[in-house]
Amino acid sequence: MSGSGKPADPAGEFPGEGSAPCGKVWFVGSGPGAADLLTLRAAKILAQADAILHDALVMPEILDFAPHAKRIAVGKRYASVSTEQAAIDRLLVSTARENRTVVRLKGGDPTLFGRLDEEIAALEAADIEWEVVPGVTAATAAAAVLGRSLTRRGRARRVVIATPRTGRGEKPNHDWSGSIDPNDTAILYMASHVAADSARALIANGFAPHTAAAIVHAATRADQSILRTTLGELAQGTVREQAAEDRPALLIVGAPAEPS
Ligand code: SAH
Repeated sequence: MSGSGKPADPAGEFPGEGSAPCGKVWFVGSGPGAADLLTLRAAKILAQADAILHDALVMPEILDFAPHAKRIAVGKRYASVSTEQAAIDRLLVSTARENRTVVRLKGGDPTLFGRLDEEIAALEAADIEWEVVPGVTAATAAAAVLGRSLTRRGRARRVVIATPRTGRGEKPNHDWSGSIDPNDTAILYMASHVAADSARALIANGFAPHTAAAIVHAATRADQSILRTTLGELAQGTVREQAAEDRPALLIVGAPAEPS
């Protein structure tokens, strides 16, 4: 799907191939970290990019796919100084007005926890064309690292992707946990720093304390690691929380977290 009312044409509308108008923004998913998990489409667009606005999670090796592009870091990480979303929106618009091919590079897949809609709205308000290029999200990357599927025949028929994290100014709450069923696989993004609280919320919601849980750090990167535990252990706070960790982490609960 591309923006500004123009039909999507992923096969023929790569930058530099004639038909792309000036100042198009490509929202590109950079995948979970390993550079060779970038899609071919993403690599092709990066090679043509004049400017890249990238998140903190994007690995430097991936930026090397865009040798000619001006690099603009707009990363927002938990508990670190953040670039305000409104400032990012403005920067995206002004960069698109000054450059032909602009890549907005986001970790994983751009449609998950990426503030994509706000950035699209800013571009549409400025009548700037855009298109989304999907990427491998952290959830499927972590499942690959665990060597388990997210679903399981006869058991885990549903995968819930959620985050316990609330936006700035929003009161912390456990609304995310209410509709998760003990048979579901729960994949929690941005949760490792509140793992104990998250586990308590799931137990209060009917999950058994012995339910398997895993924290997968930096899935697919050279520094990846897996911590296997249970909801009960997490709830007791005996598993060190990862607030100071600078590696991204997912909390996975249910079938894929079970040991073999
Ligand atoms: N759009 C991204 C998610 C952005 S939110 C995606 O689709 O993956 C950022 C959160 O994603 C991190 O706090 C962490 O919970 C998770 N994450 C991103 N990359 C990860 C990785 N390689 N390993 C584990 N978790 C990761």
